[in-house]
Amino acid sequence: STYDKTVGIDDLPIRDELKGKSPYGAPQLDVPVQLNTNENPYPLPEPLVARIAERVAEAARGLNRYPDRDAVELRTELAAYLTRTGGHPVGVENVWAANGSNEVLQQLLQTFGGPGRTAIGFEPSYSMHALIARGTGTGWISGPRAEDFTIDVAAARRAIAENRPDVVFVTSPNNPTGTAVTAETVLALYEAAQAAKPSLVVVDEAYVEFSHRASLLPLIEGRPNLVISRTMSKAFGAAGLRLGYLAAHPAVVDAVQLVRLPYHLSAVTQATALAALEHTDTLLGYVEQLKTERDRLVAELRAIGYEVTDSDANFVQFGRFDGAAGSHEAWRKILDRGVLVRDNGVPGWLRVTAGTPEENDAFLEAVRALKKEQQ
Ligand code: PMP
Repeated sequence: STYDKTVGIDDLPIRDELKGKSPYGAPQLDVPVQLNTNENPYPLPEPLVARIAERVAEAARGLNRYPDRDAVELRTELAAYLTRTGGHPVGVENVWAANGSNEVLQQLLQTFGGPGRTAIGFEPSYSMHALIARGTGTGWISGPRAEDFTIDVAAARRAIAENRPDVVFVTSPNNPTGTAVTAETVLALYEAAQAAKPSLVVVDEAYVEFSHRASLLPLIEGRPNLVISRTMSKAFGAAGLRLGYLAAHPAVVDAVQLVRLPYHLSAVTQATALAALEHTDTLLGYVEQLKTERDRLVAELRAIGYEVTDSDANFVQFGRFDGAAGSHEAWRKILDRGVLVRDNGVPGWLRVTAGTPEENDAFLEAVRALKKEQQ
């Protein structure tokens, strides 16, 4: 086709705050060992694949109709899963689902953030929180984290009191550091956030199934401004499915209805997620294997001589390299050995996702060689 190839994004009448910005972009490179996006390395088991085909076929027969707009059956099953594993009973009225937890977070910011409002996160943390804030016209405040990547409660409370944000993000376990947050910390931040505004506190528990600690789900009791965000992308090994969900007071579920697109969760998505939930026990078995592998990565990286941040997730942050240039150089050298890890832009540190034992061996071999080379 013929079009003016000199025209770029910034020549279009886009919103000012999007000008000159880059999209989310974890490299998707075709290398033998991919340990860069915190995916579950285990493909879904064959019996589950067969069950998905069955349930999707059933859904296909009704695709002339719109799907269940309220995804009642799916939310009921998600509530049952949370009740069974989260240490707190929840019902369908407490749960909302969307296309990945990214969409859940977007709906929350569309409802509780937006133009003239702000959100805070304690960085380094999940970069999409800031990007979704930008996309929804919500101002972003970068809150502090301690040297060891835990949340410094006093400093965080001060940041909340000074900035009076409308939304507070707490990621536990945190990405990219793997750091879990205690219930006491979340309660202290919730208290500060209520005193300052009041504001919505979102606890992003995308990786909680891999944690040594229990879910913070019980904290929603008696706290209508506290939301727990979850996903089937990690523990359920279903990143390609795009299914995230939240648990909160029913009023929060009612509030996000104001911004959700009608029929946002396709009948195919709902059918697939329901099939996966039927196989929860098998999938959580893989989680146990991955936790063992994660602990092995931590121990072996330390034995090789790397510094490692304690991890409660299915990934491990390791270093230290010589600043941003050093971590980027190390990333490249590990890639040269056929292993893709993640440079999250935290100067001096890289992040590796726990893969299969064989993938982790390949990674450990690469970083052992790198250590020798750099000594
Ligand atoms: N929260 C955190 C902390 C994450 O790391 C991710 C994925 N990398 C997500 C949310 C979003 O995942 P999804 O949209 O696949 O549920």
